[in-house]
Amino acid sequence: MAADRHIAVAGGGIAGLTTALAIAGPDTNGPTRVPTRVTIYEQATRLEEVGAGLQVSPNAWRVLDALGVAEAILPRSVAPEAILMRRGRDGRVIARIPLGDTATARWGAPYRVVHRADLQAALVAAIDANPNIDIRLSSHLEGFRIGKADVALHFADGADARADAGADADTDIRADGLIGADGLWSAVRRQVSGEADPVYSGKVAWRATVPADAVPAGINPWETGLWLGRDAHLVHYGVRGGAEVNVVAIFADDWTEPGWSAPGKREDVLCRYARWHRLARALVEAPDHWVKWALADREPLSRWGLGPVTLAGDAAHPMLPFMAQGAAMGIEDGWVLGQVLADGYDVPQAFRLYENRRMRRTARVQKDARSNGEIYHLGGIAAAGRDAALGLLGPQRLLARFDWLYGWGRTAGA
Ligand SMILES: Cc1cc2nc3c(=O)[nH]c(=O)nc-3n(C[C@H](O)[C@H](O)[C@H](O)COP(=O)(O)OP(=O)(O)OC[C@H]3O[C@@H](n4cnc5c(N)ncnc54)[C@H](O)[C@@H]3O)c2cc1C
Repeated sequence: MAADRHIAVAGGGIAGLTTALAIAGPDTNGPTRVPTRVTIYEQATRLEEVGAGLQVSPNAWRVLDALGVAEAILPRSVAPEAILMRRGRDGRVIARIPLGDTATARWGAPYRVVHRADLQAALVAAIDANPNIDIRLSSHLEGFRIGKADVALHFADGADARADAGADADTDIRADGLIGADGLWSAVRRQVSGEADPVYSGKVAWRATVPADAVPAGINPWETGLWLGRDAHLVHYGVRGGAEVNVVAIFADDWTEPGWSAPGKREDVLCRYARWHRLARALVEAPDHWVKWALADREPLSRWGLGPVTLAGDAAHPMLPFMAQGAAMGIEDGWVLGQVLADGYDVPQAFRLYENRRMRRTARVQKDARSNGEIYHLGGIAAAGRDAALGLLGPQRLLARFDWLYGWGRTAGA
């Protein structure tokens, strides 16, 4: 069936790729669906792997499964048996939250961790196999103009973008809808909301991946480790089927350069954790190279869209990583966009419906992520109170606190 609707997606990150697949995926172009062609416009000259590990909670895994990409990443991922929370300075166990089979039974899908490159590769492979999706690289979207029945996209140096089928060489691209999945510094968001700069958190994330046999004995790649200390914490988990361990060190720092992967000096990390428990110290000594980025989010928006334009992923709801949900929320967004666009509404109606379904939930996660960051980095008596409370709650009540988040989509067909 010829595709008679064209949706443009700005940005080829996890949110943009998932969204394209959910809109044009194999089972969305069935008899009751509007046949849809999707073009992803990505500013980079190639889709680069940024970051290292990514926790894919059940709410997101369920979507990847429905889109047919979970199978491809399964052998490269790890289902951690538990999250082990420990005190940074002496290694004392604060709490152990079971995951593994417990997570799957409770939330109907597994809690897994993956290497970001593996997830990206699986999404791109599914897109390459889909004749209704195109990726246009070197296409930096500068802005849009809403017309009577469509939206015109304007590119900085859009030679590649304008090579898109059906577009005149000297005109902007036209589409029936535009989804801005262009990340934290989104150009689409800027035009939708007129908003200024991101809010820097005063915290910087340092990331590294090390071969599993190079991590100290006592660090279990089959568990997610979470070490808490004053103004700092440390996370580690196995990726690539357990062959590598992803290490994330986050601590207070007022460095705020934009970008995802500035090289970091190893000594800076070693120095920050010098008084932590020997195992935590040995772990941060393992990697030779670190990359770092300044953590920023934004306040939730009161409007995500205008006419045939909307936002998804970090462009819509950038959040701090303390709920490990940024990519998961972008994956959920993609799924919901796929559903509303398949339901027969016109594009602006579908986008408003999508925004109604998404805005409250994602604002809650943004808010919870901020407060988790505060809680993780407590010191002194406040930290002792936190640890005692977590210990008292026990595993079942700790798990129950995530039901609203990880149980999403169980009954929504995802
Ligand atoms: C330390 C850390 C740990 C994290 N851990 C987790 C985790 O465990 N689980 C989880 O779910 N999330 C996690 N996240 C969050 C997650 O990484 C992000 O939320 C997610 O990657 C955002 O995806 P996105 O596609 O919305 O945006 P991005 O990944 O930023 O992609 C945006 C894309 O748009 C392109 N682009 C930008 N501007 C334009 C333009 N004008 N025109 C065309 N293209 C453009 C960019 O080049 C980029 O490719 C973590 C984040 C950090 C910092």
